[in-house]
Amino acid sequence: MQLEARIKSAIRDIPDFPQPGILFKDITPILQDAILCNDIAEAFHESFKKQKIDAIVGIESRGFLFGMLMAQKFGLPFIPVRKKGKLPAKTISFEYQLEYGSATVEIHNDALPAGSSVIIHDDLLATGGTACAAAELVKRLDCKVAGFAFVVSLDFLNGRKSVEQHSSNIVSLINY
Ligand code: AMP
Repeated sequence: MQLEARIKSAIRDIPDFPQPGILFKDITPILQDAILCNDIAEAFHESFKKQKIDAIVGIESRGFLFGMLMAQKFGLPFIPVRKKGKLPAKTISFEYQLEYGSATVEIHNDALPAGSSVIIHDDLLATGGTACAAAELVKRLDCKVAGFAFVVSLDFLNGRKSVEQHSSNIVSLINY
């Protein structure tokens, strides 16, 4: 079976989670298949291996899972972007708007040397707000977004349009 079909058959749809009207794409069944996890990391590596990349930035918390595997494949540092108040050393923050209210993400201010080129990874691209917030943090450290890597893209939410302002190099392994 092709990778796309294998990922699609592993993902579990959970209706009305975490709130009514949301169809949650649960990636946890993928984690039970070690070969599939490795193949996902390998597919991201194939997509970006010709570019000069200095680090993989993963977004809390599901972006840590394949983000770390990717970093291992590339032999590069993994840099976590976390929700406000979770990172222990000095951070910079970026606040962004959600459908209701706002959220803040942070990165350690010494996480990336200025001039680094990074791939930003999360499990899923929905509206793109979270990935754009991570991109803003990267840019505030005087670094460059070389691309985005998502396992899943919910194309009907147009997240691609928002993240494109940071990099047009957007890889998603499956699309709905
Ligand atoms: P967004 O900022 O709207 O692109 O949302 C992306 C973040 O929310 C990612 O970290 C996803 O893990 C999570 N997310 C949003 N919608 C869904 C969904 N339908 N299923 C699973 N995760 C989602």
